[in-house]
Amino acid sequence: MATQRILDFLATRRPDGPCLVVDLDVVRENYQAFEKALPDSRIYYAVKANPAPEILRLLASLGSSFDTASVAEIEMALNAGASPDRISYGNTIKKERDIARAFALGIRLFAVDSVEEVEKIARAAPGSRVFCRVLTDGAGAEWPLSRKFGCVPVMAVDVLRCAKALGLDAYGVSFHVGSQQTNLSAWDEALGDARFVFQTLAEEGITLRMVNMGGGFPTRYLRDVPSAQAYGHAIFEALKKHFGNRLPETIIEPGRGMVGNAGVIKSEVVLISKKSANDDVRWIYLDIGKFGGLAETMDEAIRYPLVTPRDGDETAPCVLAGPTCDSADVLYEKTPYPMPVSLTIGDEVLIMGTGAYTTTYASVAFNGFEPLKAYVI
Ligand SMILES: *Cc1c(COP(=O)(O)O)cnc(C)c1O
Repeated sequence: MATQRILDFLATRRPDGPCLVVDLDVVRENYQAFEKALPDSRIYYAVKANPAPEILRLLASLGSSFDTASVAEIEMALNAGASPDRISYGNTIKKERDIARAFALGIRLFAVDSVEEVEKIARAAPGSRVFCRVLTDGAGAEWPLSRKFGCVPVMAVDVLRCAKALGLDAYGVSFHVGSQQTNLSAWDEALGDARFVFQTLAEEGITLRMVNMGGGFPTRYLRDVPSAQAYGHAIFEALKKHFGNRLPETIIEPGRGMVGNAGVIKSEVVLISKKSANDDVRWIYLDIGKFGGLAETMDEAIRYPLVTPRDGDETAPCVLAGPTCDSADVLYEKTPYPMPVSLTIGDEVLIMGTGAYTTTYASVAFNGFEPLKAYVI
């Protein structure tokens, strides 16, 4: 999965210390695959997945819009060349003064999941478009988003009715089926909920127009995942099932699926040891761990493929851990990771599929370790 360009970069530049290398060609291919799979949906790249300016500039030039969660992310998208009408403020939890700053920057599209948030937007961003996020159960997702965002569909009706009453444009409904969602039917149930909100409000004379179908599109880690085309097909069928021939405008917000497979982290084995002489599980300590950018190994949720110079040699299950002095800095222990028995201190380990949710999760200087360096090529 490491592209030749990434391997050549590492071989010629030999950067010291752990680092992420992102290949923009892969990001471009991913963008084009989404465009092809869902030709009628607008793509709002979820900036949080990887906000590197080179990635944002490329996507802006390809015509992408941007899903942002803070004023800083809005500014990054603007600096990358996106006009304000291509940016949504998609976080349902915003300070009123940040809403006002976004409004001043030209942003007119906001996410909500409560009447309380609608009231803030009505005051700070009058007349803007709002969409209400509905809860999903996240079943089937490897990184579910739980109950933190969204409300039940019946409440979404109240939220959007309130938006309309306060002079906002009640624009639509959003959901997120959970990140790394490999169950293609996850969108079907959520689209059924969206349809309920559309229909209930239509009976009151409020016409919603947009469904934001969120992210959730996967990166291939150790197991195969369905293609963008397969997602597009399943989603289109579900849209037709629930909305018939009156299809709403649709948006998708891929994050992981846009950049995950475009990046590789180069790391190094710092120590290989055992806890007792007759222990048969070796501990392998890398120079990157949970605090260096691999936060998604929390609860061993995301299992990254690893490439070593000893691949092909006999393997044995190992515990993998990071270099810091926090005992939580263990990547894989409950399910040990098979690693070559011949692996040696100083060997380079490539961590694949790490283009999303790594650099921005790295701590500032825990134990004095620098944040993860990134090269975008
Ligand atoms: C994080 C996020 C996304 C991106 O999710 P992925 O699973 O990485 O595609 C999309 N929309 C919203 C609102 C998000 O918070």
